[in-house]
Amino acid sequence: MRYISTRGQAPTLDFEDVTLTGLAADGGLYVPEVWPSFTAEDIRALAGLSYVDTAVAVMRPFVAGSLSDEELRDLCEAAYGRFSHAAVTPLVQLDARHFLLELFHGPTLAFKDVALQLLGLLFERFLKCRDTHLTVIGATSGDTGSAAIDALAGREKVDIFMLHPLGRVSDVQRRQMTTVLAPNVHNIAIEGSFDDAQALVKAAFADREFTQRYTLSAVNSINWARLMAQIVYYFYAAVRLGAPDRAVAFSVPTGNFGDVFAGYVAARMGLPVARLIVATNVNDILHRALSAGDYSTGIVTPTAAPSMDIQVSSNFERLLFDLHGRDGAALAEAMRGFEATRALAIPAAMRQEAAAIFDSARIDADGMALAMRWACQEAGEIIDPHTAIGLAAARSADLPREIPVVTLATAHPAKFSDAVERATGQRPSLPARVGGLFEREERYTTLPATLEAIKAHVAERSVAPA
Ligand SMILES: *Cc1c(COP(=O)(O)O)cnc(C)c1O
Repeated sequence: MRYISTRGQAPTLDFEDVTLTGLAADGGLYVPEVWPSFTAEDIRALAGLSYVDTAVAVMRPFVAGSLSDEELRDLCEAAYGRFSHAAVTPLVQLDARHFLLELFHGPTLAFKDVALQLLGLLFERFLKCRDTHLTVIGATSGDTGSAAIDALAGREKVDIFMLHPLGRVSDVQRRQMTTVLAPNVHNIAIEGSFDDAQALVKAAFADREFTQRYTLSAVNSINWARLMAQIVYYFYAAVRLGAPDRAVAFSVPTGNFGDVFAGYVAARMGLPVARLIVATNVNDILHRALSAGDYSTGIVTPTAAPSMDIQVSSNFERLLFDLHGRDGAALAEAMRGFEATRALAIPAAMRQEAAAIFDSARIDADGMALAMRWACQEAGEIIDPHTAIGLAAARSADLPREIPVVTLATAHPAKFSDAVERATGQRPSLPARVGGLFEREERYTTLPATLEAIKAHVAERSVAPA
């Protein structure tokens, strides 16, 4: 499979290079040159397969030319063998039509493990045959940092430097990162906000002297391999509920538009997806874009679902690329306008095309708490605030009664136990496999929010040959 940039000016890459590269050189994001296509028979053949077998069948066309079936299977077995549930991503029925797809059975209790556990192994596999040492730099407000650190700890030829805002992540989130003592893991507490940390990462990627010295890579969802790994569970869930002979709807708690874009890819590949519901909290840029064509940024309002507190959804560009008829030049011009004015008006024809599959909803704090209580009282399930936003959107969607609606459960409730307790009166406890978090030794370095401090720290700590 070949990969092209959404802005049309960067070199075409194979799967191996696209995995090791973050952003395309022209500022765009990489997407497959063509969407692979599955027939009804291909989908029927997935019935009864294990998660790993489903993963191999679904990802095979995307890695063609870079990995054999056998290599892909070995990586999937290693990545998903670390999940605590035999089904990896089990479906839980809530009532006659609503289901949860539990994506939080990985090592750090958030859905980001599904993609990052595989990405860590892909990095190691592709670096093995190269004379390259990868330096991963990222900023996190919580979930991404711990999932990326768990996935990369101890891997050869990779260093990970993860910046979090000092004192502004929860104790559980911080300890999930700082108790990982592998020598290639470098936790940095920045004296500043999450935005300061993110700005420092951007500055590092833009610094010529720095990028010439180190091969930098990203682990956020601009990385294509992350999205690819998420396509699998849409197939896995839909086949269990009757695909290809029955269409299924999905409701997705959305931040950077990565997870729901993977659902869109599944639909483009032929999976009968009746609807993709883009569920946002009060940071509703995506709801405004899809319902009114207004893709314009505002100020971020902090909520109880912090992984969805975003201003700009990077992966939305991948959908805009298709809506622009895959015309990279036209999209590059639209994105230049957006970067200059922080606003983009989506023409009515494109909005209608998107509406053929996407629906959207904005759920406020009351709607979120109500959904947590409903799940607890009516179905005996404790759900986290992000999942609750997805479930509230699913319950308010206007869909034929016979269509099952699957809400993606993106985090374990114990990661957000205060908010869960406020809404339901019940305090979920951390699963035994992450027990001991509060007894373990922590290691991190506190640095001022300056690029000089970061650069000096990387130079001192990186295992990379300087
Ligand atoms: C990252 C995250 C999301 C948002 O996913 P996107 O792919 O950014 O849309 C939702 N819920 C949780 C718990 C997350 O960690």
